[in-house]
Amino acid sequence: MKRKQCPKCNSGKVMHNVRVIDRNGEYQDMSLSVRVERKPDALLFKGAKDFELKALICGDCGYAELYAADPGRLLQVYLSCEGSDDPQTK
Ligand SMILES: [Zn+2]
Repeated sequence: MKRKQCPKCNSGKVMHNVRVIDRNGEYQDMSLSVRVERKPDALLFKGAKDFELKALICGDCGYAELYAADPGRLLQVYLSCEGSDDPQTK
């Protein structure tokens, strides 16, 4: 979703697709992401797939929202997970 206005202050100065950094100690910066596991109960080979999150940030008030960079692919993988709820049936 591409908002043209800030949902908090209605400013038009919104920035899209800002990378959100996730720090892990001394290691290289990573992008903040969500993880879906196809087989969450497996000891190994859980079939984990990570999806990057991007931020929308208001240039006036600083309000920030997070979006999955590839929601279509995320939904596909989510629906292939054991025990996942189908969002269509909710
Ligand atoms: Zn704002």
